[in-house]
Amino acid sequence: ATSEYKKALEYYIAYTSLRDSTHSVKSKDKIAELETLYNLETHEKQLSESGAELKHLKAQKFGILILLFILTIASLFIYFAYRQKKGAEKKLALHKSDLENIIIEKTLELDNQITERKIAEESDKLKSAFLANMSHELRTPMNAIIAFSHFLHEPDLSVNKRDEYLEHITVAGESLLRLIDDIIDIAKLETNQIKISISPANISRLLRELYKVFFEIKIKNSYPIEFYLTMDRRNDYIINTDLLRLRQILNNLLGNAFKYTAQGEIELGVRTVEKVLEFYVRDTGIGIPKEKHTKIFERFSQLENNLERKFGGTGLGLTISKNLTELLGGELWVESIPGKGSIFYASIPAVELRKVAVSKELPGIPSKIRIHDYNWVNKTILIAEDEELNYKVLDSCLSKTNARVLRASNGESAVEICRKEKVDIVLMDIQMPIMDGYAATLEIKKINKDMPVIAQTSFAMANEKDKCIDAGCDDYITKPLDLEILLSKISKLMQ
Ligand code: ADP
Repeated sequence: ATSEYKKALEYYIAYTSLRDSTHSVKSKDKIAELETLYNLETHEKQLSESGAELKHLKAQKFGILILLFILTIASLFIYFAYRQKKGAEKKLALHKSDLENIIIEKTLELDNQITERKIAEESDKLKSAFLANMSHELRTPMNAIIAFSHFLHEPDLSVNKRDEYLEHITVAGESLLRLIDDIIDIAKLETNQIKISISPANISRLLRELYKVFFEIKIKNSYPIEFYLTMDRRNDYIINTDLLRLRQILNNLLGNAFKYTAQGEIELGVRTVEKVLEFYVRDTGIGIPKEKHTKIFERFSQLENNLERKFGGTGLGLTISKNLTELLGGELWVESIPGKGSIFYASIPAVELRKVAVSKELPGIPSKIRIHDYNWVNKTILIAEDEELNYKVLDSCLSKTNARVLRASNGESAVEICRKEKVDIVLMDIQMPIMDGYAATLEIKKINKDMPVIAQTSFAMANEKDKCIDAGCDDYITKPLDLEILLSKISKLMQ
């Protein structure tokens, strides 16, 4: 029984252990299974978790992508909107500046139109004033010439009266001539046809001559005016300039000074200021208000209005003088106080200024040679002239020299006479019918190249002088003729 028991025990132990082992195997399996299950579950859980995470991440990524997309779209939108705005702003600015430009342009156009209209109106006014003045200025001397010429017919005219009438006629004729010269000068200046001829000019002598001429006028008219000449008395100043034009300028200024000064003083002077010679004409006359200091240099402009005209004139003198001074490279200006007087300055460059001791020779008018001093008894003078009156003036003058006078009334017949007759000199008018003076001179010089020809020109056309010389003329004289000059030219050329 003990053994049985023992066995039973052993069996039991074995059983137990077996059972246990089985059990443990089972449980191990179970455990393993459970573990596997657990692991699986955990894994699955993990998997599902990571799946969820993945999903979450995916969702997040998607979200971010969407966000990025939205952001990109939004920024693109903003960018385009910005660009559009900028573009619009730019366009607006362009438009604005275009508009501004158009406004400026239109304003300028309008301004120009207004100024042009003002100028046109002003110029119309000036033209009418000019015509009115011109008519007055022409009529006054013409009336005098016609009236006094009639008076000369009076049967019991005394010699004194005759001389007085003749003096009136001469003065009126000279003033007409000055007027015509002024008009021609203005026309030439406006078309740039005035040529300046520069050569060494003794300006001190010019001033002395001008002073003498105006001093004589003052004495003759008993002007109650002191007249001075202020300059370096020890030296003569010689510069390179156009003496004739300078004389014309100063002559105009002096003429005005005497015209607009009733009493007091007039001074003509010159001084050197740096490299210019400053000429001046000072007067104590009516003076000119400051606001007119520029205006008076415009053509036809005068301070007086037409109705109250006291002084006469055309308003051309200062315009011509200013233009001429500028052509000489200088300036003309005025300083003036109404009621006190004026100083007109003409400054011109002192080109190659030289000082020489004052020449002893007295200035002024050369001694008069009388017609009767010439005796051309065996000479033949041909006058080529189509105008009857002009011919008569020449004929009556030349006949007094005992010369034989022939007449041709056109160029062709002048050539014909030179071919047939013994002619000693030809006075050639330029404007003639059939053949003009230039062509006739060329033909005459072909017949006899030594035949002296003096052209009579009016100098109304540009280049007339050059054309005469080119055509072969030996000299020229301007119309209306200065008979003294003509006689001296004939006597020089005629053998
Ligand atoms: P004109 O004397 O023929 O009228 P100008 O051109 O010489 O023409 O002068 C223009 C204007 O300037 C004159 O009408 C006059 O009003 C003014 N003037 C010129 N010189 C003087 C002067 N010395 N004193 C006062 N006014 C002057």
